[in-house]
Amino acid sequence: MSKTSLPPPENLPMRLTRDTVSEGFKKRVAELSGQNPDSCYQCGNCSSGCPLACEMNILPSRMMRLVQLGQEETVLESGTIWICASCFQCTVRCPRGIDIQSVMDALRQIALDLGTDHFGPDQVTPEQAATVPQPGLVSLYRKLST
Ligand code: SF4
Ligand code: SF4
Repeated sequence: MSKTSLPPPENLPMRLTRDTVSEGFKKRVAELSGQNPDSCYQCGNCSSGCPLACEMNILPSRMMRLVQLGQEETVLESGTIWICASCFQCTVRCPRGIDIQSVMDALRQIALDLGTDHFGPDQVTPEQAATVPQPGLVSLYRKLST
């Protein structure tokens, strides 16, 4: 799996200005996920247990912080939401009982609603069609398509 093009998390800008903070973003994430992002106290348990953290340019715990701070653009541009495999490891590890996987689902839904990412059969190369298991392709369609 290839790394995403955004810089590593420590280099990501975090500018908390009127222009960069999306007022309704956290509320929308909370509505779609049924979770309260403000419950996160940044312990890092989710990130330390995520099997795909090494491929993410923003770790799950940092994603939660960015959601708290209304950093919609940074969150939705991150490859993390598409790399997340919905394995629920973060969810079972969270001491605050936050279903982080549902937060990732909500973020994907918001991105899809904005038309920022789609995946269809025409994007599957002949090599991928020959080597990727069919259930894997179906999962991709369901995860990345509206
Ligand atoms: S659900 Fe996603 S973010 Fe959570 S541990 Fe699994 S891959 Fe990582
Ligand atoms: S495990 Fe829960 S409380 Fe800890 S950083 Fe992740 S979301 Fe926040």
